[in-house]
Amino acid sequence: MKYLPQEKPGSGHTGYQQQVKEANIKRIFDLVRSGKCKSRAEIVRHMNLSATSVSVLVEELANRKLIDETGPAQTTLPGRRPISLRLNKTAHHMAIFVVKPQGVRFALLSLECRILEERFFPLDCHTLNEANAGETYIQLFDDILRNQSKRFNPSRAVMIGVCFPGMFIEQDHLFHTETELGFALTEESIRRFQQRVGLSVYLFNSTRCLAYAEKKYLDALDPDAPETRYMIFVKIQNGIRCAIISQGDIYPGPYNLSGEIGHFTIDYRGKPCYCGNTGCLERYVNLSVILENARRAAQEAGIEPPESLEALAQRYHDEPVLMEVVKQSARLLAFGLYSIICSSGMRQIVLGGGIEILGDTFLQEVYHALFSRTSLIRNLDLSYAQAGPDAEILGVAEHYLDKVFTITM
Ligand SMILES: [Zn+2]
Repeated sequence: MKYLPQEKPGSGHTGYQQQVKEANIKRIFDLVRSGKCKSRAEIVRHMNLSATSVSVLVEELANRKLIDETGPAQTTLPGRRPISLRLNKTAHHMAIFVVKPQGVRFALLSLECRILEERFFPLDCHTLNEANAGETYIQLFDDILRNQSKRFNPSRAVMIGVCFPGMFIEQDHLFHTETELGFALTEESIRRFQQRVGLSVYLFNSTRCLAYAEKKYLDALDPDAPETRYMIFVKIQNGIRCAIISQGDIYPGPYNLSGEIGHFTIDYRGKPCYCGNTGCLERYVNLSVILENARRAAQEAGIEPPESLEALAQRYHDEPVLMEVVKQSARLLAFGLYSIICSSGMRQIVLGGGIEILGDTFLQEVYHALFSRTSLIRNLDLSYAQAGPDAEILGVAEHYLDKVFTITM
């Protein structure tokens, strides 16, 4: 993650009192946003603050058009009926870009994380010159905000979020993208863009977006249950990456580089990898390799090779040769998962990124392969991602509002 905040007038005064005020007002905003508190009285009870303090802070949130005070709330308590509080759903929005090898998905979201507008803008990164590909993407962001979006309004936007497949390398000042894109976004060009639009920019790795959206999805299933505090989200596409949820937040590691599960060795004499290692997991299991293996096995068996992963998913239950490829991929994946389960001590694993298409048989095979290592594995919770096709957009927006967004600072 990398946050490039816009300088706010008067910012810089971050004394103790200011920090306490910010913590309280943000907490009130979060309680109203999540629907946990619907009146000033409920906030007073929830936060152990005086009614006067809460009134002042609520007033400030209302003045900033972040929450609305509406008619009397439904309550069973005696006395004067309280005014109900709710998130202001119309005054502000967030512009989100999801960077893909084929282009950019743009979405405008309300503060309740509802999509107000969205569109895909094609841009084939493989046709671009590597040296200025990053700049071309940023120019597209600019053009979308200035000319293409029907509803974007800079005075109403709280931030611009960018979900991208790569990591920010602090010492190089650039956003290194994963090999599928083959270019970098420099911090300098992002800062120039930020200055042009005059808004904070929040860049978030796509696997981490998926992981955080999944955590929020699971938390929303049962608001009374404890939040998901520990989880490993594994994204399997043309490589394998994971994102770690620890103590309810993304664990970035000291160099912001956590999650390279694809480069765990599963065969020390195995295939060489571009990372310098040998026998890396992602050389044996990823969506392209699974399809390639299935096609080769089909050719050798004299049956028609599956054209796509979808075709493989449809056919493998009826073709023992294809079934064996799918099950073998599951068993190899389990080697990598076992390493991260042992090293992290976590037991909740979510698989996503496209592998879900292989269905329950694949998942069960991974589960059984992990459970055959019985001495260390207990309480394993293995599932496919459920947060849906908007997970990348939601992940960056929700993480920003939960962990980065400030109201007075
Ligand atoms: Zn490697």
